[in-house]
Amino acid sequence: MSDRRATSAPPRFELSGGALCLDFANSWGDRRRPESDRLDDYAALLAFACEAGLLDRQHAARLTRRARQAPAEAARAHALARSLRDALYRLFSAQARGRRVDPADVAHVNAALHEALPHLRVTRRAGGYAWDWADDGGEPLAAPLRPVARSAAELLTSDDLARVRECDGATCTWLFLDQSRNRSRRWCSMESCGNRAKARRHYHRQRAGSS
Ligand SMILES: [Zn+2]
Repeated sequence: MSDRRATSAPPRFELSGGALCLDFANSWGDRRRPESDRLDDYAALLAFACEAGLLDRQHAARLTRRARQAPAEAARAHALARSLRDALYRLFSAQARGRRVDPADVAHVNAALHEALPHLRVTRRAGGYAWDWADDGGEPLAAPLRPVARSAAELLTSDDLARVRECDGATCTWLFLDQSRNRSRRWCSMESCGNRAKARRHYHRQRAGSS
């Protein structure tokens, strides 16, 4: 698979979580609002995979054709994507909040890994080798989930696990890696949630001052 982005359309997903598995979990931006779930259908899974650089244009077109020919398999792949995404959210949210992790969510990652890892390989690149995914043209429609499962396993077993945070925004459940030096980042991005929280505090201070 290529790291080239396959679409020139405006991006549908914001990939600022700092790890592929967190970006995938963030495809549902606020768990309290079902309408903020952007992984609507199988095409949305392919859009995510393209934007994240997991699929090139040709590969995505091939999976799109196969999904049209096998709508039941596409629906199953979409359901699988959502259930993995939701397990990743619960797992990393619990980690970020210091809550107990549900062993069922770890088992879910392990099941996804069990499917994914036999398809890992090394390929020759300029000056050496790189990890890659086998692309034999006959992979299941859920194949874009393989690198997501691997990313989750890598994050779970890395020192960066302690940097996973969940946004403190009132209408946001984004997960991200806190790369700040003193590990004090609270919002997914200051442009959106941080500024909204600041404006709210300012508003309440003004109200308190004027009463
Ligand atoms: Zn946020």
